[in-house]
Amino acid sequence: MLNPAAWRILNLQSGERVQWLKAMPCDCYDPTANYDAQRSCTNCDHGWVYRDQGEQRALVAEQRRHILNPELGWVQFSELKLTTLEGMRIGTGDKVVLLDRTALARERLHRGADTLPHLYPVEVLVVADGSTVYAAGSDYRVNLTTRAVTWVTAGPDNVYAVEYTYRPEYWFMGDDLRPQRPAGLGDGQTPQRGTLSLDPPSG
Ligand SMILES: [Zn+2]
Repeated sequence: MLNPAAWRILNLQSGERVQWLKAMPCDCYDPTANYDAQRSCTNCDHGWVYRDQGEQRALVAEQRRHILNPELGWVQFSELKLTTLEGMRIGTGDKVVLLDRTALARERLHRGADTLPHLYPVEVLVVADGSTVYAAGSDYRVNLTTRAVTWVTAGPDNVYAVEYTYRPEYWFMGDDLRPQRPAGLGDGQTPQRGTLSLDPPSG
């Protein structure tokens, strides 16, 4: 039987910080009228509104497994598994941002739409177009909170490239295991465990 107190200690020792964004269906779709305004809705992302639930601690571990591919035979792939601490009632389609990790992005931005696409940028490393590498401070400035690049000099005419690090975002794809249930003595619940994906759940 799982001991919630022992589990909590394990999680605090080996877990990491994650930002939890809960996904709720947007009101731009009315099921009684069958009216779907998603395309023109500015409040949501493909019908979902993400609400920040704050920082949590969770166990994020890589799991390798083999799947049988009809053409390639047995192939190995790895996926990230998230295991929650009690109290974080995570659901399919929620987003988690791994606050203790960084990933590297190289993306194009357009003058006039100078916002870094990833939600939690950490550091901008290079800003350049085909002919020029621009200097931080004297050519451009970055506000990491608003994710905006603002230009001090004339800068690039049109499209330019940005290399930056960010906290990686994942979607929670749902529970692997049985639903949460009371664990042992006391009022604890068993942890939830599921797969993290870089792509949103379909449907
Ligand atoms: Zn909407």
